[in-house]
This record gives sequence, C-alpha cells and structure tokens, in this order.
Amino acid sequence: MIAVTSKLPQTGTTIFTVMSALAAEVGAINLSQGFPDYHCSPALIGMVNKAMQQGYNQYAPMAGLMSLREQISQKVNNLYGAWYDPGTEVTVTAGGTQAIFTAISAVIHPNDEVIVFEPAYDSYGPAIKLMGGIVKSLELSPPDYRIPWDMVRRLVSSKTRMIILNSPQNPTGAILSQVDIDELTAIVKGQDILILSDEVYEHLVYDGQIHHGMARHPELRKRSLITVSFGKLFHNTGWKMGYCLAPANLMHEFRKVHQFLVFSVNTPMQAGIAEYLKNPEVYMGLAEFFQQKRDRFRDGLQQSRFKLLPCKGSYFQCVSYEGVTDEKDSDLAIRLTKELGVASIPVSAFYTQGTDHHILRFCFAKKQETLDAALEKLIEF
Ligand code: PMP
Repeated sequence: MIAVTSKLPQTGTTIFTVMSALAAEVGAINLSQGFPDYHCSPALIGMVNKAMQQGYNQYAPMAGLMSLREQISQKVNNLYGAWYDPGTEVTVTAGGTQAIFTAISAVIHPNDEVIVFEPAYDSYGPAIKLMGGIVKSLELSPPDYRIPWDMVRRLVSSKTRMIILNSPQNPTGAILSQVDIDELTAIVKGQDILILSDEVYEHLVYDGQIHHGMARHPELRKRSLITVSFGKLFHNTGWKMGYCLAPANLMHEFRKVHQFLVFSVNTPMQAGIAEYLKNPEVYMGLAEFFQQKRDRFRDGLQQSRFKLLPCKGSYFQCVSYEGVTDEKDSDLAIRLTKELGVASIPVSAFYTQGTDHHILRFCFAKKQETLDAALEKLIEF
C-alpha cells in the first residue's frame, strides 16, 4: 500500500451521509439531511429542458451565463437595495459548498485565523485547515445561540483574516439581528477582516423579521464574500447550483480559484434558472411556504416530550430532550432512527469538541404527510 499523509486526519464521513444512510437502511422517515422530499417546479424543469434543446450544452463562460448573473444582480437589488455588477461581482457556482470552499481558498493563507461560530455547518473547518488557516471556534449555547460579541472582540487578533457568518443558521435556526450587525460593524471597521457570509437560507426568515444579509450593510458589504444556494431556493438540492457575490477586488481573487476548481458550471441549468428568475414571485413566497410547515411541525411537537427551541429561520427545528433521557445526542438520534423510525441529526456533530447539549435537529422541508407521519411517531417517544 502506498503511504499517504492525510491532510484532514480528524475528518470522517459527514453526519448527514451517516444518518441518511441509516434512515434508508432501516426504512425510517428521514428528517435528518436538509433536503425536500417533494418536487421542484415543473416550469423550471421545462425551462432547463428547453435550454438543452436550444443548444445550451457547451461550456458556459467561467463566471456564469451573463443572463443569469444579471438576474441574480437584479434579485439582490430587489431584496437588499445593493447593486452588484454582473460583470465583475457575481459568479455562478456549483452550489453553496463550492462557493464556500472557493472563497476560503482564495483569501486564506497559512496561519491566518478564521473565527467560526459553532454549532457550524461542517464544510467551513476543513476548507480553512486545507489552506493552512487556523480555526478559532466560538461555541454558542442553546436556547438562543446568541453571538457573545464581547468574546468575539477578545478573539480578534492581528492574525484574524475572516469571520464566518451563517444567518439563518444551520442547525440552530437563529438569525442575525440589527444589534448583531452593529456589534460586528464596530469590530471590523478599520480592520482588514473579511467576512464569509453563508446565506443559503436567506429567504427562510419568519415572523415578519428581515434577513440581515451583508449586502444590506455597506460597511460589511465591502469586505464580504456572500455565498448562496439555488438548491434551497428552488427545492432542488441535487442540482448543486449557487453563486457568490463580492466586491470586484475580492471577486477577482475568487475567480482565480473558481476557474481552476470547476472552470464553469452546468450551462443548461444556468439558462433555465435565468429564465425562471425573471419572475420574482418564485422567491417572494418562500418564507410563507416554510413558515406554515414550521408552525404545523411545532404545533405537533408541542404534544411530545421534546422541548422546542426557537426557530426564527432556516428549515430546521431543534428540540431539547433534557430531563427525558441522559443518552448522548448521537446515541439517541441512532436509537430514534432504528426504534421509532424517525431520523434526525445530533447537534453535537456541529461542534468541533462534540459538545452535547442534548439537542436534536429535524428538517421540516418535507411534504405535510411526511411531517404528520413523523409527528405521530415522535409523540410516542
Ligand atoms: N451552507 C449551509 C449552512 C447549508 O446548510 C448547506 C446545505 N445543507 C450549504 C451551505 C451547501 O449548499 P449546497 O447544497 O448548495 O452546496
């Protein structure tokens, strides 16, 4: 056997793969991984088909079809009143994950420090480490998972190159508030600190709150790489389409990596999505659509022994089982999948240290009948 020194010795198969595989193996209802179990729009599928038939089947331009970049720019302007130049400040990516990886690799040098709030989506840490960067984790706590800005201030050093934000947050469903924006602005102002803002759930903000995307706030916008996923927007996570927004100087560096990582992204999908995005209604109703699912799922869970944590955004509902059992969250998630037939994700998997607050995450981006069937079982617990 040829010896190889792992660049990510601590990294195994992601918890999402593990739990989805277990759910399939035992025939459990899968509320673990974040993907819908219903179809995406037939109109969108028709537009992609049409693009293929019209001959959109060769390489797209490196940064993406101009028609799509223009639509993205228009959407961002409609939502946040910010103008990103489609020529120099918008790049189409193969989903949010590629955008995140590309952004980190484009700007993080060895020994640069990156502040990451945990529980965190699991792709940030490995990308930072592969670049020789140093992950400075800051653990947030239930039930609100508020960011302790005084601690952030203490963590910032001359080596801090980036702060990673994710609002609405996976797995906690927390969102940034105006207070968070003010605190963050005060910390980064006058410093060479970049922001990677993972906004894949930008449309999923509930109860009349607004999404505090970085595009809204000029002091933050000028230092931000914003990453977004069409999979979350169009209920088709398998298409792996997304984009990155950044000021031209940052986008220039982003594209240097993008062109050698993927060069360009699936052409007919870009053409179809560009056509579909011409109608803003396709994204304007999304919060209401998911809020209904959230409310019904929460109502059902009220009848169970789980304690509901707040869910202000995203399509994840976290629950605590404190006082019900002392089991580790990973053990309970496996037991519920096997014995009860409902798969979830243990939130300890989102902490580098495996911190276990006895909390499970359920994805409610599912058909009502799937949620009802899951609730029936969860109430038995
Ligand atoms: N960031 C977060 C917070 C996510 O939850 C996900 C998907 N689960 C992604 C990024 C990745 O998005 P994509 O599937 O488009 O790569």
